[in-house]
Amino acid sequence: MDPLMHMLIPSLMLIAMGFRKRIMLWSFFAILPDALYFTEFHRNLSHSLVALGFVSAAIYYLMKNKRLAAALVFFLISHPILDIGGYVAVLYPVTDNYFRLHSDIIIRNPQHVLDFDTWLEVIPPGQLTMVYDSYPLQTITVLFWLLFIAALALAERQKIIKGVKGLLH
Ligand SMILES: [Zn+2]
Repeated sequence: MDPLMHMLIPSLMLIAMGFRKRIMLWSFFAILPDALYFTEFHRNLSHSLVALGFVSAAIYYLMKNKRLAAALVFFLISHPILDIGGYVAVLYPVTDNYFRLHSDIIIRNPQHVLDFDTWLEVIPPGQLTMVYDSYPLQTITVLFWLLFIAALALAERQKIIKGVKGLLH
């Protein structure tokens, strides 16, 4: 997934959850895992939920501002989750297998409207010949967007209720 999407998706979700818009200034945390892109650590150590879990715990423990710390952790952790549509060693070093969540919404033929073809592919690192990118319309990303809309609706529920009441009168 491209860096812009990596920064935009969690930023909008945090804003929907009540963070100020300036939280976007910290969204570079969401692309830190890709800073190791050109090293052999890309998609294993840098994209490991285990490694990022330790980094997150350290950030949360060391920072005084727990609310900002939570946002930084959210930015960091969102990265491998959004990347899992490609091949990512999310459990490295517990296992160095690569995981890919196949979650394509496909239209097979005109009779079948939509087919949610979701399954988890696991391959050992030696057999990884090609790195696929995850893209903004995969199910995993669509789920992120839906979560964002749900959070936004929850935050704005008073306005929505007022609006609906206004319409009914
Ligand atoms: Zn990445």
